[in-house]
Amino acid sequence: MEQLAIFGGTPVRETPIYYGRQCIEQDDIDAVIDTLRSDLITCGPRVAGLEKEICRVTGARYAVAVSNGTAALHLAAMAAGFGEGDEVIVSSITFAASSNCVLYCGAKPVFADIKDDTYNIDPESVRKLITPRTRGIVAVDFTGQAVELDELRAIAREHNLVLIEDAAHAIGTKYKGQPVGSIADMTCFSFHPVKTVTAGEGGAITTNDEATYKRLMRLRSHGITRNQDEMVHPTDDMWYNEQVELGYNYRMTDFQAALLTSQIQKLERFKKRRREIVEMYDKAFSSMPEIVVQKEIPESDTTRHLYILRLNLDKLTCNRRQFFDALYAENTKPQVHYLPVYWHSYYEKLGYPKGLCPNAEKLYMEIMSIPLYPTLTDGDVEDVIHAVKKIVEYYRK
Ligand SMILES: *Cc1c(COP(=O)(O)O)cnc(C)c1O
Repeated sequence: MEQLAIFGGTPVRETPIYYGRQCIEQDDIDAVIDTLRSDLITCGPRVAGLEKEICRVTGARYAVAVSNGTAALHLAAMAAGFGEGDEVIVSSITFAASSNCVLYCGAKPVFADIKDDTYNIDPESVRKLITPRTRGIVAVDFTGQAVELDELRAIAREHNLVLIEDAAHAIGTKYKGQPVGSIADMTCFSFHPVKTVTAGEGGAITTNDEATYKRLMRLRSHGITRNQDEMVHPTDDMWYNEQVELGYNYRMTDFQAALLTSQIQKLERFKKRRREIVEMYDKAFSSMPEIVVQKEIPESDTTRHLYILRLNLDKLTCNRRQFFDALYAENTKPQVHYLPVYWHSYYEKLGYPKGLCPNAEKLYMEIMSIPLYPTLTDGDVEDVIHAVKKIVEYYRK
């Protein structure tokens, strides 16, 4: 048996790799530099061009580019009309921003459990949580796999709820052949460097509804309008603009938009390479009883953002912490996605008890995300598999 690096053995590789990394190429850099030499460097023609590109890849009628994915969720929650006294049902295994956006509006997040095999929000759990105060659902395409949109839309229609899809992981994913972004009432994207395509920091909301689109555009820029139809005191004075509601400065810069427009041209290539890596991992791990492979639903043609290594702790003598530390020491560095949101101390202080979502809590104790990004070589992927095998052999019951 090979000695584990954490106990003084040789790591499977010398240079570390992490769970995610951006892929920036020369043409991406050139696009940014060109923009910096142009007249407008913020929220100009390149942002408008980017929004067209986002519509093209998502099939949505409208797209609004914003400063980050959290801003996208905040504006979507505002445009949904969430407020004091409202309840909004949210996925429990996600980044805190998915539920913080509900709190920003003064409404109450209610956490739905996940399915034990796909790790996505369970429509049955959503149904059970509906009360007369429920106003919406924020569903997360976890790891990039689409949530069960038909079921969630049916629930939303039945109870008159706004369905917001947090597709921060899922640009390029299709559900029953239709791109994510054109299906929910609003879909939010993140373009943080760890996501599939990046703007450095960036986000977007897509919708098919014109009134929602106009509202989002206004909220992105202080709640100020230049459109006379929206003014309380309309005038054709050229300088005049009017703040008609309280908005924010959530604009994206033009050089970020240039970077992201260039990145989006590579989406299919990135998706394909991510897919190949997932297949290599699945093939290696599906024959190992100590590892549980995430179930993929046939409805989702997935751009995979994360690869979740789930331990079958019944078959191992270690816990997740020991496995994580061992994998870290092999220089194939994992991360954990995610703590059940309501386990954060801030949510605990708001009064959310442990035990709310048993599947989510169990999942959290058994997982770590292993490296997945398009510039990984087959050799890198083999190193990760080698490290996992080495650790499994050591801790096998
Ligand atoms: C990254 C992420 C966000 C937030 O996006 P930012 O661009 O970092 O603000 C929201 N939800 C999920 C599920 C994410 O992964």
